[in-house]
Amino acid sequence: MMEKIKKNLFLAGVMIIYLLLFVINTEKAVLSIKNSGYYLKEMLIIMPVVFLLTALIEAWIPKDMIINALGEGSGLKGSFISLALGSVSAGPIYAAFPVCKMLLQKGASISNIVVILSSWAVIKIPMLANEAKFLGPKFMIVRWIFTTAAIISMGYIIGKLVNKDEIPSGEDNLSKDSIKINKQACTGCGICVDIAPNYFKLENRKAIPLTDTIKNKNGEKINLAMRECPMNAIKIGEN
Ligand code: SF4
Repeated sequence: MMEKIKKNLFLAGVMIIYLLLFVINTEKAVLSIKNSGYYLKEMLIIMPVVFLLTALIEAWIPKDMIINALGEGSGLKGSFISLALGSVSAGPIYAAFPVCKMLLQKGASISNIVVILSSWAVIKIPMLANEAKFLGPKFMIVRWIFTTAAIISMGYIIGKLVNKDEIPSGEDNLSKDSIKINKQACTGCGICVDIAPNYFKLENRKAIPLTDTIKNKNGEKINLAMRECPMNAIKIGEN
């Protein structure tokens, strides 16, 4: 139970806030539940389509193509492709997250992911059309120019500040017996290397696994290294 709460801290926090709200102000709590229900219903309609689209892109678009178009070396071309992808998209911004996570895993750079997310949020084509209708074309064009420049600059800066290793890789979904090390958490103390030198080594003061999966006969040593790691940085798939 505690393990489940630990893994879903945010959800647990939200539930506690709901409970407190029920005690303090029942009327507001009921209103909050209704609003949450509305968004939950919207997500249940939209997300299956998004997951299907993500799976299709993952299966059909080769990794090399994504690296070439949106990877670290894609430069301004990558920024413009990202801008176009975000601008022609449809649906709420939360639909962009699984798509962007998949692109990131297939080699897109952090800068380009920032550009896709930001343009998806603020310069989508239907949004621009409505903006021109209500606020005038001049307003829309000037805002588009400045927003686009800001998005590309922001992508560049975030790309410099955030390392891919800092982004969760979905360790909870590790396949059975596979090993992963959270580089962000690893302090390079070397305990795992001392315990299981055939399975870990240090590189640039970080531990890296020498194998992707555990062989049964040596599983004990790896499990011991996992337990002894002071940063809890070693994960082994259990599913
Ligand atoms: S024991 Fe943990 S913190 Fe130390 S090097 Fe290994 S993975 Fe990193």
